[in-house]
Amino acid sequence: MSRFWSELAGNLTPYVPGEQPQGTRLVKLNTNESPYGPAPGVLAAITATTDDQLRRYPDPQANELRAAWAAREGLAADEVFLGNGSDEVLAHAFQALLKHAEPVLFPDISYSFYPVWCELYDVEFRTIPLAQDFSIKPGDYAQRCGGIIIPNPNAPTGILLSLEQIREILISQPDVVVVIDEAYIDFGGESATSLIPRHDNLLVVQTASKSRSLAGLRVGAAFGHRDLIAGLERVKDSFNSYPLDNIAQRAALASLADESWFSASCQRVISTRERVALRLLGMGFEVLPSKANFVFVRHASRDAAELFSALRERQVIVRYFNKPRIDQFLRISIGTDAEMDALLEALEAILAA
Ligand SMILES: *Cc1c(COP(=O)(O)O)cnc(C)c1O
Repeated sequence: MSRFWSELAGNLTPYVPGEQPQGTRLVKLNTNESPYGPAPGVLAAITATTDDQLRRYPDPQANELRAAWAAREGLAADEVFLGNGSDEVLAHAFQALLKHAEPVLFPDISYSFYPVWCELYDVEFRTIPLAQDFSIKPGDYAQRCGGIIIPNPNAPTGILLSLEQIREILISQPDVVVVIDEAYIDFGGESATSLIPRHDNLLVVQTASKSRSLAGLRVGAAFGHRDLIAGLERVKDSFNSYPLDNIAQRAALASLADESWFSASCQRVISTRERVALRLLGMGFEVLPSKANFVFVRHASRDAAELFSALRERQVIVRYFNKPRIDQFLRISIGTDAEMDALLEALEAILAA
């Protein structure tokens, strides 16, 4: 605590992102990055950046990128909002759309940034326990609230809700905004953007960080009724008019232009995930059914914190959350086949010891 800090700054409990260690010998399976590079056109677009594109401010609305992303989802440009990563988009959603007299609802086991934004923006919240099998039960969200936010697939479980289940939540809560955080939707789920024309209370948030291999670029998007988008824009234009620089706008456009690269790299991650899940099952792990680019696993007889440390000693980093209900799980990102073989080999050695 410094005497120069505001009371707010002093009282915050900031989000702790997964480690980004420097050094190349590590097998890094802790932050759900893609193991594959972005589409080749992305690097070409970055290299082609001109003096003028750096000298001038960028388009504050990123209209070209908005139009392209809208078209991909079958929406109009004014039904899209862009931000500096989906974390920024989500932060604005808490302030613009989820802050009301009644608390916002989200699962007890979920993206741990949500309560951090609630604290920062003074938003009341209530967590809803996942079922025993770690699934989300839509009926549990049919209660008085000021809004709902759910990752789909959920993080860190990887479990997917169907569009029918999301529709059930939307129909039971027509008077509050329901945010579906689709950071991992491209690894086996179906986007809820198709529900937007019939549900003016739905905001779908996506990111270029995971499935588009662009975590370092910082591009996120929200899709919804134009009134929701206008609310987000009011907050954005009171915070930072230029969240996306010129390089990010050009590079993200190039990513959207290469659908075949995109679907091929998602498909590679999916097939590696299925192979690794089977191997882990064979080694005595319970593997929650994942539609994301990670698996959430617990061993029948070995302590998760000890497995985490033993992997670390063998240069493999995964994610461990020392939290109620999930403190016996490890979250393992899906890397290349070679990286996953290194993980499996390390686990075999640890389990044999
Ligand atoms: C990774 C992640 C995000 C944030 O991604 P950005 O890199 O900020 O776009 C948002 N929600 C969930 C559930 C995530 O796992």
